[in-house]
Amino acid sequence: MADIDRKIRLLMQLRREGITDTAVLGAIEKVPRERFIAEALRHQAYENLPLPIKQGQTISQPYVVAFMTQKLELQERMKVLEIGTGSGYQAAILAQICRRVYTIERHRTLYLEARAIFEEMGLHRVITLHGDGMRGWPSQAPFDRIIVTAAAFGEVPQTLTDQLAPGGLMLVPVGDSATGQQIVRVHRADDGTVHTENILPVRFVPLVSGVPAGS
Ligand code: SAH
Repeated sequence: MADIDRKIRLLMQLRREGITDTAVLGAIEKVPRERFIAEALRHQAYENLPLPIKQGQTISQPYVVAFMTQKLELQERMKVLEIGTGSGYQAAILAQICRRVYTIERHRTLYLEARAIFEEMGLHRVITLHGDGMRGWPSQAPFDRIIVTAAAFGEVPQTLTDQLAPGGLMLVPVGDSATGQQIVRVHRADDGTVHTENILPVRFVPLVSGVPAGS
């Protein structure tokens, strides 16, 4: 089957599973997922599967990318922060919809590779940082939207909640492999009060504080 047919099949599957936002479906259609994975796995690029990337990390399943992107309720002029650049795929999807996407990765190799792909693809809306995303990006805060693509242990990181603008939304997987993980939706109301809600059981790699030694 050709990539284009596989992609159409994936888009139909996403629609059936409740992805109805045309901006999200359009972004999935437009971004070549095969660019963000190793050559040997490219035939699986349009399967609805998470796939391994370097440093023992994973590129999320297309459904999870689409679900989180839809739940972010994005608008073009929003400023979005992503924690966990990884392959760069989720950031590339966000950049189809929003004008300013900030993304942080703790592994230098992943950061450098993703940055090179953004450059090649002309994705100048994506601004990259090598560092510890648990600290957020104080000099660019507040953000209208924050998406964390690695699971926080125990609770929603307060530092990130603090960097949400009034009216802002954050999606963050919380939990561990023993207890199970849930994507938590954090909403900061205009009056500053924060509301949280579990929206989807998931499996993400862990959010790890600090930057690897020698990186
Ligand atoms: N959004 C990515 C998903 C990659 S997996 C994609 O589309 O491919 C999650 C990533 O989060 C991994 O690359 C991991 O190294 C990174 N990560 C984990 N803890 C982090 C932290 N504290 N700061 C920045 N990145 C982190």
